Amino acid sequence: MKIYISADMEGITGVTHWNEVEHNKPSQYTQFQERMTKEVLAACNGANDAGATEIWVKDAHYSGRNILSEYLPKNVKLIRGWSGHPYSMVQELDSSFDALMMVGYHSMAGQGGNPLAHTMSSSKLDSVYINDQQTSEFFLHGNVAGKHGVPLVFVSGDAGLCEEVKEVSPNTTTHATMVGVGDSTISIQPEESRNMIQKKVADTLKGDTKSCIWKHPGSFVLRIRYIKQQSAYRASQYNGATLIDAKTVQFDTDNYDEIMRFMLFTV
Ligand SMILES: [Zn+2]
Repeated sequence: MKIYISADMEGITGVTHWNEVEHNKPSQYTQFQERMTKEVLAACNGANDAGATEIWVKDAHYSGRNILSEYLPKNVKLIRGWSGHPYSMVQELDSSFDALMMVGYHSMAGQGGNPLAHTMSSSKLDSVYINDQQTSEFFLHGNVAGKHGVPLVFVSGDAGLCEEVKEVSPNTTTHATMVGVGDSTISIQPEESRNMIQKKVADTLKGDTKSCIWKHPGSFVLRIRYIKQQSAYRASQYNGATLIDAKTVQFDTDNYDEIMRFMLFTV
């Protein structure tokens, strides 16, 4: 059983402030870097409890160089940094994987649920819609798994995200690390959080994972509202893109890979 884990940081248990997820603020970051690593480890342990043979982990936060690899089990391959491939937070994901899991993910741009809520870029994007569904990093990358027929079996992150997951993908197991309230969080205890992650991942992988495969529509309409009109105008120059209003660009395609490619070059 070959497993893919995509790990972000803003939804790791207790993370509340940008200083805690930025490596150039070591006095605050280091504690949460270790916590992120341990939550990924808990997911790996759960996968191994269920019989995983191979686990690929994508360090998918900021520099892509956060996870402390010496903590991880021996059957893990860790992807660090950013290749420049459109699949971004799920780089190298393909149909050879038996399941995708997301750890430390967070609520989307334009929503409450996490003091650090955003989608891909907190400085550039106001909101992203795919086929009128407001889109988070979970939804954007979950669709890559859907394209390849890989079930998205487990997501951990803030409670707001978990609600979104349940609406979009009701059979996916969720684990809420905390509730975001305005600029604060109310989180569960980190060790308890890890214990729950390990158990939920193991139970999920032993169950019916096929029910977590997303079915794709035949075509996609991507609509991005940028924070600055200058960014929208620039993105509207992408082949096939249309400027809808000063800050909004639309891009239509029947190939989901082209959505991810558009994001790569215009965000
Ligand atoms: Zn992040």
